[in-house]
Amino acid sequence: MEFALTAEHEEMRRMARNFAEKRIAPTMEEDEKEHRFRAELVKEMADQGFFACIAPEKYGGLEVGHVAACIMTEEIAAVSPSWGLPFNLQMNAIQPVLLAFGTEEQREKHIPPLIAAEKLGCFAITEANSGSDVASMKSQAVETKDGWILNGSKMWISGVPVADTGIIFVYTDREKKHRGISAFMVDMHAEGLEQRAIETKLGLHCAPTGEIIFQDVKLPKDSLVGEQGAGFKICMSMLDNTRLSSAARAVGVARACFDHSVRYANEREQFGTVIGQHQMIQQQLADMYVEHEAARLLVYRAAWIKDQGQRNTLEVSMAKYFSSEAAVRAANEAVKIFGSYGFSSEYPVERFYRDAKSYQIVEGTSNIQRMIIGQYALGIRK
Ligand SMILES: Cc1cc2nc3c(=O)[nH]c(=O)nc-3n(C[C@H](O)[C@H](O)[C@H](O)COP(=O)(O)OP(=O)(O)OC[C@H]3O[C@@H](n4cnc5c(N)ncnc54)[C@H](O)[C@@H]3O)c2cc1C
Repeated sequence: MEFALTAEHEEMRRMARNFAEKRIAPTMEEDEKEHRFRAELVKEMADQGFFACIAPEKYGGLEVGHVAACIMTEEIAAVSPSWGLPFNLQMNAIQPVLLAFGTEEQREKHIPPLIAAEKLGCFAITEANSGSDVASMKSQAVETKDGWILNGSKMWISGVPVADTGIIFVYTDREKKHRGISAFMVDMHAEGLEQRAIETKLGLHCAPTGEIIFQDVKLPKDSLVGEQGAGFKICMSMLDNTRLSSAARAVGVARACFDHSVRYANEREQFGTVIGQHQMIQQQLADMYVEHEAARLLVYRAAWIKDQGQRNTLEVSMAKYFSSEAAVRAANEAVKIFGSYGFSSEYPVERFYRDAKSYQIVEGTSNIQRMIIGQYALGIRK
């Protein structure tokens, strides 16, 4: 079987591009300045079917697949990386986890409101002292006769402090290390749970990020996702999906930086000609051109493998690593091509430069992706 985009994919690209231009772009710069998250915009994205790509019809999904999701994510991120994030929070994190590991009741309860954006989602792995080394987390849930009592905290969680529902990874048996982590669906308005905003971010100003504090939060028995102790495996499977979405956002940024730079290089004149006539600018643009196209193909391949029902961990790590680095390089080059205007918030490349850095960190840093890729190369992972 060969991979090719369908007419349906192209239609989805047009639809997402149109949405980004009409609904996000007009207020983008002001929203960024005000650090404004607009819940109503997530709802509008839901109404377009953006979060319905993966789930079957019986949960309100359209099941058009991961390639379609990546295409639409790229289009939104090319206008605003902040507004690319809801794809992960509403769809890529929780929905595939519940489809693969959840009970029928959990799927029916949680998937439809996420698709419709009636509830805003989040996923929480990271803690203040536990990032790349997931198993070093401290938060824990202790079993009681009615369910579980959750204590601890999570840090750098996208969608906090506005989340309604989340999948949270905590220890249920620390002695067992990786095999002692479990996954829970948590009501983010539960008693004892506090969401706090982190206001000190470099970028992604329209996408809230925050901290969660759990103080004796009571979780019902049916909040456990999958088997007790299966949380690490569930988390890694979830990251295959969230990393893919992050890679698609990075492609959007790399492409946007390229497009803006081409336009500027055809307008800005120095030494009696447009700067695009200077060979060094052509070289910069050539690298940006090749890299964002190559990144996109890596993303499509990883998404396509998933759509065939196959595991894509290696391909996702390659896509995530390459597209994140390509986005940062593209943003860096774009700022240079724009000169002092690249240093100004008057043009979007300054925002892309700040936002792109997030891709080298989130969903596993570039070093962690290289570690995974290297381990596959050596046969340590299979
Ligand atoms: C904007 C934003 C949104 C986020 N959203 C979420 C979210 O929704 N949910 C969530 O759970 N988390 C989220 N995170 C957290 C993110 O996933 C972590 O920051 C990331 O996994 C890295 O962890 P760390 O920051 O603790 O870095 P550390 O793990 O402390 O790493 C520090 C440095 O050491 C390097 N390093 C660490 N271990 C190794 C190794 N073995 N080999 C080589 N180098 C290594 C890293 O690459 C990095 O350069 C978000 C972060 C940001 C910035």
